[in-house]
Amino acid sequence: MRGRAKVSRDPFVSSEVETPYRAKPRSRASASVGGVPRLRLGRTVLGLGVALFAAAASAQTPRPATPPAGMQWLYGSGEGGASGIQAYHAFRNYVVAAARHRPRQSVVLAPGSTLAAPRFLPCGRRPLAVVLDVDETALQNLGYEYDDAIHPGRTYDQERWNRWEETGANAVLPTPGAVSALNAIRRARVTVIFNSNRLSRFAAQNTATIDGAGLGPVEHGRTLWLQGDVAAGSAKDPRRTAISERYCVIAMAGDQLGDFSDLFNARDLPVPERRRAAITEPFAWLWGNGWFILPNPVYGSGLRGGIDDVFPADRRWPAPERGNN
Ligand SMILES: [Mg+2]
Repeated sequence: MRGRAKVSRDPFVSSEVETPYRAKPRSRASASVGGVPRLRLGRTVLGLGVALFAAAASAQTPRPATPPAGMQWLYGSGEGGASGIQAYHAFRNYVVAAARHRPRQSVVLAPGSTLAAPRFLPCGRRPLAVVLDVDETALQNLGYEYDDAIHPGRTYDQERWNRWEETGANAVLPTPGAVSALNAIRRARVTVIFNSNRLSRFAAQNTATIDGAGLGPVEHGRTLWLQGDVAAGSAKDPRRTAISERYCVIAMAGDQLGDFSDLFNARDLPVPERRRAAITEPFAWLWGNGWFILPNPVYGSGLRGGIDDVFPADRRWPAPERGNN
């Protein structure tokens, strides 16, 4: 299932996010056959059998003709491309205008805030900055999602994602509209900072990926903040707080509510209440006025909820039988 396949990048499932991949411990061979440890020989034969079976299955399983609907929309459709450009037009226009009058208040929530009573950090005399998420906000992970699309049903594997961070730099694209918007924001003397849940141990590779997509230049620890930089885990508030010690953040962009505040990722927050918090005041006003969200129908915290979560009880339409009215 697509949503489940990507939950490790979903901060709701932080136990998966925070659990590093561990290779299974190797058992020692207790005896040998012809100089080859017996257990190892058995594993070799078994491994060869599995590999041959996998190769045969792969040869017999045709590549799916179409990717999942969310990928068609986000990566392949004109509608998806236009939505990126529209978001980045709004982001750029807002930031350039805001930089002229220099806001006194940041759009980063102060520690101790709640969804019911948010407070925002004061700017003081700090230089201006914007903070963006990376994946499916500024960068589209075409290569990784292609690999997912041709292996339907495969579950998420943190180690595979790690390999993507290490080696995927040439298989990404910037989100339509992002490059020109970020360059215009830099020209307005506003620092562009990325706050990503990519891993700090791959900082060099992630820097190359972002720069290679035309979204940089970024510098790890100054304009690129990664998971592990401030604290372990996928929570982004600690990094937002650290960034805010140096900068006045006048706008943020992301594709998940957690790109704006970890308060939206509380485990006990039901789907309907989370939506209600996002679309009612005080947060409703922020969308397009400091907080800018990019659509992501492919994975993440928005792909949750059962029928009763999604459809309010008073907005259901049982189709009338023909001829009964
Ligand atoms: Mg993202």
